[in-house]
Amino acid sequence: MELRCSQCGATLEVAPDVRLLACPYCGTALAVSATGTLFDEVMRPTVGAGEATAHLRRFLAGPRTVANLDRQARIGDPVLEYFPFWAFTIRDGTGERTVLMPAAPSSLQGLQGLALPAGETRTMSPDVTKGAPVVEPEIPVETAEGWLHDRYGDVSVQRRVLYHLPLYRIAYEWRGRRYAAAVDAVSGRVFHADYPAKSEAPYLLVAALALLVFGLEGLVVSNLLAKALLYLVSAPPILLVAWLTVRRV
Ligand SMILES: [Zn+2]
Repeated sequence: MELRCSQCGATLEVAPDVRLLACPYCGTALAVSATGTLFDEVMRPTVGAGEATAHLRRFLAGPRTVANLDRQARIGDPVLEYFPFWAFTIRDGTGERTVLMPAAPSSLQGLQGLALPAGETRTMSPDVTKGAPVVEPEIPVETAEGWLHDRYGDVSVQRRVLYHLPLYRIAYEWRGRRYAAAVDAVSGRVFHADYPAKSEAPYLLVAALALLVFGLEGLVVSNLLAKALLYLVSAPPILLVAWLTVRRV
């Protein structure tokens, strides 16, 4: 396949399975698409491995996961990799911005429509990645551009590049199961696949119990003062059950 270098315009002979290359004439890092080459850019990590683990721990301690997960999970060592995104600079009524779409399949949620983290981007080079794995783009840029239009409508695309964003992959284990997560090594943002989520069922049970108790009391007792007293007496046990549920779940 013959393509033109986006930097110097030289004609390049590219084998069909090649997705990333450096132009032999000008040295520019390029990503190969069906119709031409795009710049391959990269951001340097600014978040350290220890900091990445701390970000994940805060997510595990947060309101969406089961109680005490941050203390009970066995968290593995963070492994840095450079994950590919197609970056589209789009213009719409509100101005210009850059939107990222994943260029490789992943079980991580929230990668579509990610904003480019604030930080300096530069041409992809081994000096930046220092031997960390660089994931090749597998999803064609045309497919990603389709997702872009599904999400943002008929926006005009000003620029297309491949961005390799540094991500720490961190696996953790809880009750014999392994879970996958990643931490953006530029912004510190946590991406999760599935995780041990707080179950809603116990909360619904507590709410049903409260409805049942107060409802019955309201039906059975008609004297207003007696009703108020009864509510006062039955509220503390229900609050206690609710409090225990929050602590345990
Ligand atoms: Zn070139």
